[in-house]
Amino acid sequence: MSPNSVIQIPKRLPLLCTHEGVLLPGSTMRISVDTPRNMQLVKSRLLKGTSLKSTIIGVIPNTRDPEHDSDELPSLHSIGTAGLAVQVVGSNWPKPHYTLLITGLCRFRVTQLIKERPFPLAEVEQLDKLEQYTDGDQTDSELGELSQRFYQAAVQLVGMLDMSVPVVAKLRRMLDSLPRETLPDVLASMIRTSNKEKLQVLDAVDLEERFKKALPLLTRQIDGLKLLQKTRKLRPDDDKRVLSIRKGGVFPGRQFSVEEEGEDDDDGDDTASLERKVKAASMPEAALRVCIKELKRLKKMPQSMPEYALTRNYLELMVDLPWNKSTTDCLDIRAARVLLDNDHYAMEKLKRRVLEYLAVRQLKSSLKGPILCFVGPPGVGKTSVGRSIARTLGREFYRIALGGVCDQSDIRGHRRTYVGSMPGRIINGLKTVAVNNPVFLLDEVDKLGKSLQGDPAAALLEVLDPEQNHSFTDHYLNVPFDLSQVLFIATANTTATIPPALLDRMEVLQVPGYTQEEKVEIAHRHLIPHQLEQHGLSPQLLQIPQDTTLDIIRKYTREAGVRSLERKIGAVCRAVAVKVAEGHKVSKEASLTEQHADRNTDRKEEDSGIAAPPDMPIVIDHIALKDILGPPLFEMEVSERLTLPGVAIGLAWTPMGGEIMFVEASRMEGEGQLTLTGQLGDVMKESAHLAISWLRSNAKTYNLTNGSTDPLEGTDIHLHFPAGSVTKDGPSAGVTIVTCLASLLSRRLVRSDVGMTGEITLRGLVLPVGGIKDKVLAAHRANLKRVIIPKRNEKDLEEIPAHVRADLDFVFASTLDDVLNAAFDGGFPSNVRQPQIASKL
Ligand code: ADP
Repeated sequence: MSPNSVIQIPKRLPLLCTHEGVLLPGSTMRISVDTPRNMQLVKSRLLKGTSLKSTIIGVIPNTRDPEHDSDELPSLHSIGTAGLAVQVVGSNWPKPHYTLLITGLCRFRVTQLIKERPFPLAEVEQLDKLEQYTDGDQTDSELGELSQRFYQAAVQLVGMLDMSVPVVAKLRRMLDSLPRETLPDVLASMIRTSNKEKLQVLDAVDLEERFKKALPLLTRQIDGLKLLQKTRKLRPDDDKRVLSIRKGGVFPGRQFSVEEEGEDDDDGDDTASLERKVKAASMPEAALRVCIKELKRLKKMPQSMPEYALTRNYLELMVDLPWNKSTTDCLDIRAARVLLDNDHYAMEKLKRRVLEYLAVRQLKSSLKGPILCFVGPPGVGKTSVGRSIARTLGREFYRIALGGVCDQSDIRGHRRTYVGSMPGRIINGLKTVAVNNPVFLLDEVDKLGKSLQGDPAAALLEVLDPEQNHSFTDHYLNVPFDLSQVLFIATANTTATIPPALLDRMEVLQVPGYTQEEKVEIAHRHLIPHQLEQHGLSPQLLQIPQDTTLDIIRKYTREAGVRSLERKIGAVCRAVAVKVAEGHKVSKEASLTEQHADRNTDRKEEDSGIAAPPDMPIVIDHIALKDILGPPLFEMEVSERLTLPGVAIGLAWTPMGGEIMFVEASRMEGEGQLTLTGQLGDVMKESAHLAISWLRSNAKTYNLTNGSTDPLEGTDIHLHFPAGSVTKDGPSAGVTIVTCLASLLSRRLVRSDVGMTGEITLRGLVLPVGGIKDKVLAAHRANLKRVIIPKRNEKDLEEIPAHVRADLDFVFASTLDDVLNAAFDGGFPSNVRQPQIASKL
């Protein structure tokens, strides 16, 4: 239209197809870009472009479905708006996309599509002038009149708005300064119009037509506003509504004003309230300074800028943090003792130490001191003791699970420059509890990982160090927060994997597993009442006798703690809850027809062992238990597995507590080779070799020679440690391997009620090992009668409850000779004539 325009757009333009809106010259619009072609365009034109012209792109409205999945270029609208990309923001969440802020310059027509890939490029013809408007330029009188009418309507529209709102005032000024011919485009993009209507305005290349198309839209908006004002007069005091009229009713499609102004009314209110909160949060000087700086930045920022939300979130977090809020400790040692005793049965040592710790804290009224770390198998009540400590102190409790954390930003937060950055778990926890002196339970410190993203243990060191943690700096906050009032307690299954520097800061309190008797008590004092309550039952409805509990413990669980016991009790409660609910129904029906009810009760008795006359508690006996929990999981008697020579029971220690472990051996014709299976570590493999060597060298003494002098001549041996998927290592299986092989070679059965542990040497000595308490408890759980342990471990028996010791016969071995003599009935080699059982060869 105007070959001599002041500003010329390039002859060739890359085309951006939008399906969300219509960009009109003179307005600014935010466009989200996620289709492959558009993404390509942004990457190669906007992100690499340096000259102004390269940031000019053609925006073509696509009124059809978005081209998301199809590879085809949608048929293009012939007219579009050349736009200047003023901002490009990329994000990867929820999927890769860019957000562009584009200001429309002028119309163009596509004359020829040059290429479609990787993004459409077209030759275009510029349709609007891009020049400064000067008065007197308008010669066409009809157009003058039309534009005058349009101008007046626009003035009327603005006049209906509250001039005290800065955006409105600015718009009023703009109306006078803008060239009249740009008004249809500018106003059409601001008032409430549909995309179709906007498209009509875009298509109106002729100025007169454009005025004609846009004027009705403007008048419609004015009429709508008049109507709303009438309503406002009817309800003059409804401020919120007025505000919403101002905000959404008049300029709903107004993107540019917000972006350009950044001083939306609501925004102003918002930042003001944020400012008030910042001032009220009583933060330390340094934090306050940062907040005020950020607030200033926020005020200048357009709301739609992604950074606006980031800054706001940051400020909101700062305001929410408990800089100066704390609970008052209400520590009374006597009450604490009662509370700990009420919450937890047994664990005397731990409770004593916790009370000491609390008492010292009360006297010294300072927190500096070791961090308690409870170490023990799962389900022994470590977490729940932590919770009780918080209760005794009257503090908030917060658990931070550290299992699997391998990135130090998990502890210390991400720097705010990252997309999706957030504070670490410590700061998050503080925000959640909203006081600065909670009890933080750092759960599973032994399962911290390490990765390229830094060592989380190092970050924890800073958190736990009383000398440093009064100025802990989270990367996200970037100002120090005082953690010195927080009481940290850690838990772990084993100390072996806790980084040494971290372990050094902590006082380790071992929490061993429970004996069966303790478990029965815990079940009846705590777990059953708790589960009954959880399932809406009561002792009047359900009773679990001690025998049944013992059955659950023995036949359905194999654990050091009580977690699966609790689950099984939960399962019983659920089953009974169904019966009780059915029973209600039955008794209702019973009142209608007695006969019918009888039949129901019969059926109930048939299909389950649980049955009770109305108003009588359901008592869970062995049969009912089997009905509910299914066949026992661990019923196989240990003795059943020891019916062949070449099997012995070892006692093993795992982070889950002690366990019994079968060692199996078999022999076959071969060349004296040893095969080991069951995922063994190097130390265990060495033990196996030691055992074989010792037996070979002592074969004569023990009558193990098989005709020749070497018992392994012409024989291969296979040693297997069942539960093959679990990696096993450690020297303590030495004595078990020797016993197992001695049994295989002598073809005699090992006593089925003996469990053993101990490291061996080549000379046949038995060396002490660790984890005796857990191992002995495991032997007791498995109903073994005799336990062989190294002589030098005798002192460890003190830790074991007297009744467990009384149930077991302990053999303290200093040599392998002692072990073998205790493991076989009648000693080894046999001093009584025994029938020999032929092993499978
Ligand atoms: P952990 O943290 O050691 O894995 P939890 O503290 O989660 O174990 O304990 C599991 C469950 O067992 C909890 O419901 C807890 O109340 C209960 N429990 C464990 N030990 C005891 C105990 N000595 N007395 C009462 N309840 C216990």
